[in-house]
Amino acid sequence: MLETFKVLEITCPTCGEMKNINVPESIFSQKKYGTIKIQVPLNAVCSKHQFIVFVDTKGIVRGYEKIDIHIASLTQEFEKETERILNLRNLIQIFGIYGIFNLIHAKIFNYPIYILKDESFELDEDTLNSVGDIILPESFGGSKTLHLLDGSDLSHLKIKDKDTLIMDTQQHIFQTPWDTKLKFEEGILKRALDIIDEKEQLKLLQQDISRLINEAKFAIHVIESVKEIYEDDLITQISKEFKVKKINNYRLNLIKEFIRRNISKKLVLKIKSRVEEFLSNI
Ligand SMILES: [Zn+2]
Repeated sequence: MLETFKVLEITCPTCGEMKNINVPESIFSQKKYGTIKIQVPLNAVCSKHQFIVFVDTKGIVRGYEKIDIHIASLTQEFEKETERILNLRNLIQIFGIYGIFNLIHAKIFNYPIYILKDESFELDEDTLNSVGDIILPESFGGSKTLHLLDGSDLSHLKIKDKDTLIMDTQQHIFQTPWDTKLKFEEGILKRALDIIDEKEQLKLLQQDISRLINEAKFAIHVIESVKEIYEDDLITQISKEFKVKKINNYRLNLIKEFIRRNISKKLVLKIKSRVEEFLSNI
């Protein structure tokens, strides 16, 4: 199959460096998903910065998002590696750092994942699902939510579910079913990549994710025993229980997303915001 390309003029959002990149035409041939996120790795446009570019289905650049995570050791040595060990470094090499943020988010919050794979992609579905299980606490693993699909042609894709993450193995992301900023995923990945031992890296991710899930479990326990609860009261209780300084709203929203996606939508409705209540009474 002869692939045709569209040329996009890309500007580094940090330093203004400009370069053209080629994007397969097939990416734009579908109209279903609106904005496509394309990862621009180091050296593709700029040697100092990597970022995401948002492109609409006509191929017009709609915006940029910076990725402030530096993985200096990533680009070297990879070619020499003949062993097919699946560690964090290899996964980032395959899916891009932003792709990994998305995959982690989908795993924790139980969004089905569809990955369109090209012919050269060598990993299988079971392997990828088992990596997903490693970063989750044991009681949440085992669900095969990640699906690999053949071919890079999106127009053949018949996924009606709006709640799915859809991406490919070429670092394009077609649909992310959440509005959440992936700061949590970025933070835990940064921490994990700071340590050298590659087995420990995945374990560290699991620890950080477990901490969030434990907070969610405690929140569930609190919510179940009341008729309703204000957000700030819940924040106070969680912070007290885990002896941490007051957790922020972003973290509470993650906890709510976890409960909504993994446990029950109804439970989350019991959490009230004083601001919303105030506004609805005007
Ligand atoms: Zn730059």
